This record gives sequence, C-alpha cells and structure tokens, in this order.
Amino acid sequence: MNRQQVDRSLFDEVMVPNYAPGNMIPVRGEGSRVWDQEGREFVDLAGGIAVTVLGHVHPGLVGALVDQANKLWHLSNVLTNEPALKLAKTLCDLTFAERVFFANSGGEANEAAFKLARRYAWEKFGPEKNEIISFRNSFHGRTLFTVSVGGQPKYLEGFEPAPRGIGHANFNDLASVEALISERTCAIVVEPIQGEGGIVPATPEFLQGLRDLCDKHDALLVFDEVQSGVGRTGHLYAYEMYGVVPDILSTAKSLGGGFPIGAMLTTAEVAASLGVGTHGSTYGGNPLGCAVAQKVLDTVSQPEILKGVKARSDRLRAGMMDIGQRYGVFSEVRGFGLLLGAVLTESWQGRAKELLNAGIEEGVMVLIAGPNVIRLAPSLIIPESDVDEALLRFDRAVKKLCSQAAG
Ligand code: PLP
Repeated sequence: MNRQQVDRSLFDEVMVPNYAPGNMIPVRGEGSRVWDQEGREFVDLAGGIAVTVLGHVHPGLVGALVDQANKLWHLSNVLTNEPALKLAKTLCDLTFAERVFFANSGGEANEAAFKLARRYAWEKFGPEKNEIISFRNSFHGRTLFTVSVGGQPKYLEGFEPAPRGIGHANFNDLASVEALISERTCAIVVEPIQGEGGIVPATPEFLQGLRDLCDKHDALLVFDEVQSGVGRTGHLYAYEMYGVVPDILSTAKSLGGGFPIGAMLTTAEVAASLGVGTHGSTYGGNPLGCAVAQKVLDTVSQPEILKGVKARSDRLRAGMMDIGQRYGVFSEVRGFGLLLGAVLTESWQGRAKELLNAGIEEGVMVLIAGPNVIRLAPSLIIPESDVDEALLRFDRAVKKLCSQAAG
C-alpha cells in the first residue's frame, strides 16, 4: 500500500466504527501548529483534548523520550525502575500525595481510585460501606466501572448490567448530595471542573461542602483531575486553586504531554489498602512514559509557565467573547486558565460541531464539549501570536457560517 492510499476512507474499512474522525489526517506537528497530508497548516487550540500540554514535538520531551528509549523500555512491575520512582517522588513533592499508583490512561487511574475507595472502606469499616456518589454530566472514562460512575447514561447504554452501589447527585448542588449520603457511602467522586460535561467549574463552597460531608461520614473525597490537572488552570492541580484537598486524585492527559500515562495520587494511610496483589497493570509505571512525564512536570511546574497560562487565557477568553458578541454566537466563556468553554447562545443551540468543522476549513482546530459548547484546551506555551492567528481564523469561520445562513 503506498502512502497516498492512506486516507480517511480507510478508517471505515479497517477500524471499529466507535469514532467519527474528521476528514483531514494530520501528519506532523510543531508547537501549536499541525500539518495535514496535503500540507495544509492548522493552529491547534484542541491540544489533543487537553493532552499536548507543551505543544507538539517539544524538544525537551523528545529529548527525554529518546534518552530513555536508548536506555530501557519496559520491565513490568516485577521490578521497579528509576523513572517511575523519580516521577512518584516529584508528584509527592509537588502535591498533597504521599503515595502514587501509575496507570496508562485517565480511565485506568480512575478505575484504581474507585477500587481503592471501596477497598479502604471494606478494610476499615466492613463490606456494607461500598456506595459511591458522583454527579450527573460527569465523565470519568470508558471502562465499565468508570462509565457507571460517570453521569452520562448514554455511555452505559447496552453495556449493562453495571456495577451496583453508585448514586448520582446534581453538580454544584450540596442538598442533592446530602439527600444521598449515608454511613454506606465510601466515596464522593467529582471533577473540580466538569470537562466533557461542558466546562462547568465547581463553586468553592460546593467542593468545601463535599469535603465536610466526606469527613462527617467517613467517606473519601476523590478528585478527577484528568482534564483539569497539570497546569491547565494556571495551578499545577485545580484543588490548589480551590483550597480543598482530596484523599485521592486521578491525573492523566497532560501528564504525559502526548505519551500515554495516568496516575492515582493518595495519602499513605489510604494507599495501605492496596496491598500486594490487590491491583496492578503490566505497563503502569513504564520507564518511557515516566521519563516523559518527569520532563512535563519539571517544565510545567515552573512558575513562569503557570503564570504564562493566565496571560494566554485572558487573551483567548477576550478574543472569544469578542467573536461571541459580534456574531451573537456565545453567551459566555467559562472555565479557568487554558481549559475554556464558549457557550452557544439560544439561536446557535446544537451547532457546536458545525462550528468545529467550519474552524477546520479555516485552519483552526477547536473541540466541543457537548452540542452547545466550544472547548479550548491548547498547549500551555502556545505563542500569543498563535492565539491571535487562531482567533482570526475562528472569526472567519463564524463569519462564513453567518453569511451562509444569510445567503
Ligand atoms: N476523567 C476525565 C475528567 C476526563 O476528561 C477523561 C477523558 O476525557 C477521562 C477521565 C478518561 O481518560 P482516558 O480517556 O485517558 O481514559
């Protein structure tokens, strides 16, 4: 098969049809720009869905990967390895955590978190204490346990029976949690900023209220920071910004900057419930992933990078609001740092995907979060000139849709 034949139509011939990828196939990236097979260039405000935290082909990450690739690729957890130990130490130094479990994705980090929450309660309080409370519209991954904890029933449809003992309350509504919580509750699981659910930040009072409810009922507070973590909000983790410390935190996506890795962070006391043989992963803590994530954390945790997020965020937010007002397309831009959601007005309801496609036509990649929100999650070091260029292109995309409607 020659290269020309590798096109979008091949997807339908050889891939399971669970995704609906766009027509263009990117082949190369650099910083916040991407090029497709035809050499067309795009500004990337999608960031691989909040993953390419330092852009594409970041020299430091390439260096870390190549360096480790020339040393040691894989051992399994029969033996430990230096990159995993160093990365775990860094995560403990930079956060509330005292213990780390490595996985390969956000879903797996959450799977470990939910299993640990149950196991801890089982050991400490007995088998009756097994219920998990999470939130409507939340998203925690695609394994059977994580889609069941997630609050979007469509992702569970046809996959039942689901694990039992899971209840869903309303996000930012403490009373609805109070109505569900009992001595049987082992954990409350929450995204500090609901990502897939539309970039909806929790209020500080809500997260503090959950902390208090967990303390009162001997339940663990689990923060899913798979999307909000690793500098995206301008803080290494969003919990720092809220001043509310969880017992367990899951992180992935940006942690590897594009290399698959996830991690579950917790305290020594809680971690003790995952004794030898209780849980595991062949690849978790793989030296290649850990070496790259080390470089990501060393870079992102620098104060000037985190400060730079704010400047870029302000620019992007103002530009999107401006477009929103000029074309009557957005009612607000919500979120923090470089995890932003531009919310469609009444007259644009349901048209987020159309806007995304129009953006591609004009050379800018954005994301959606449901049918009514344009989501932006670019590299934390996107040049400000790329932000401006992306906004110009997106402006053209919206204008075109407006003139098509008028014509
Ligand atoms: N948790 C949150 C908050 C997410 O946004 C996602 C992915 O979008 C996941 C978990 C699942 O992560 P992964 O796709 O790496 O399994």
